[in-house]
Amino acid sequence: MALIEVTDMRKSFGETEVLKQITFTVEKNEVVAVIGPSGSGKSTMLRSLAHLEEIEGGTIRIGGQALVENGDYAKPADIRTIGRRIGMVFQHFNLFPHMTVKQNLALAPRLVKGEPKEKLAGRITELLAKVGLADKADAYPANLSGGQKQRVAIARALMMEPEILLFDEPTSALDPELTGEVLAVIKKLAEEEMTMIVVTHEMSFAKDVASKALFMADGHIVEEGDPAVLLTNPTQERTKAFLARTLG
Ligand code: ADP
Ligand code: MG
Repeated sequence: MALIEVTDMRKSFGETEVLKQITFTVEKNEVVAVIGPSGSGKSTMLRSLAHLEEIEGGTIRIGGQALVENGDYAKPADIRTIGRRIGMVFQHFNLFPHMTVKQNLALAPRLVKGEPKEKLAGRITELLAKVGLADKADAYPANLSGGQKQRVAIARALMMEPEILLFDEPTSALDPELTGEVLAVIKKLAEEEMTMIVVTHEMSFAKDVASKALFMADGHIVEEGDPAVLLTNPTQERTKAFLARTLG
């Protein structure tokens, strides 16, 4: 059984249908790269998996548990349980500016799981070391670089011990010299067999780290396959045109 199973997912904003019967699966320990032009529905697709958007039709199953089945959502308690299995990292980090790094990391586990501060201290230390920021526990976001902020955001997502991490263009807001340090952390998570979906424009990263690539355009998955093949020798005209624009 796939860890994520999406069948015929449909979503509109007003009159505009932005996800048109999207179907795909993600196996446990798999890293899926999602590429595609702006406006193709990549963020809406990820946000729907994390229940930040509600879809109108189709089925989303996480580890066999239906978040939504044929457009009908599970009951709130089940939605919460399923939601805890998924973490998300955003393009613009979304850290709380008035809280230190440590406080940002402790917030969700304290609010959502009611875990005491003392219990969290060890995990905070461990995760900041993992993302290379052991010395920044007491810093405020304003005093960090974009790459450091994004690594804090990754550590924050890991605090909830998710089974799946979703990344929405994690390096698109960064200066080019800072993307490498963030991609290195994601690559390390892949080596530890974290299941991930990464929306990205970093084609060499996708080839290097992902086990599968999806190309989205106009609310459809136009093509999917081995990243080495899809990103160098795609079969669909729209994929070819996109890659020619992106790489050219
Ligand atoms: P991508 O991430 O691939 O750039 P999005 O998922 O952000 O695409 O957007 C897909 C389409 O949905 C776009 O046409 C966008 O303008 C529209 N859209 C996204 N979010 C909203 C919203 N909250 N309200 C209305 N339209 C939206
Ligand atoms: Mg987007």
